[in-house]
Amino acid sequence: MYEIEIRRTFSAAHQLKGYDGDCKNLHGHNYSVVVTVKSPELDSIGIAMDFKVLKSEVDNLLKGYDHKNLSELPDFADINPTSEVLARTVYRKLSERLNNGLLKVYKVRIGESENSAITYYED
Ligand SMILES: [Zn+2]
Repeated sequence: MYEIEIRRTFSAAHQLKGYDGDCKNLHGHNYSVVVTVKSPELDSIGIAMDFKVLKSEVDNLLKGYDHKNLSELPDFADINPTSEVLARTVYRKLSERLNNGLLKVYKVRIGESENSAITYYED
C-alpha cells in the first residue's frame, strides 16, 4: 500500500457557539491541512497519485475557506467549525471527488497551531 501525503495551509476565522471560554469569541487560526490518500498500486510509470492533482483538488476546496469566517459558511450552518468538523468536512468532500477503484482518501489532519491537531478518518 502507498500513502500519498500533501500539506497545505490556509487562514480563517471562526467562533464556537456554546463553548464556555475564549473560543466563543471571533478569532483566527493559520490552519495546516495534511491529506493522506492510499493506493495499493502504481500506474505504468510508477506513480500512485500525481501530487499535482492532489494539491489542486485540495487547493480548490480550501479556496472556499481561506480568509473567510468559517462560522458564516453554509458547510457549517448546523455545527461549529471546530477542527474536528473541519477535518471531517474536508475528508468527505475530497472522498467524493477522489475515491475510485484504487485511490481512497485515508485521513485528513487539521492543525490549529504547531502543537495541536485533529485527524479524521473512516474505516
Ligand atoms: Zn479556534
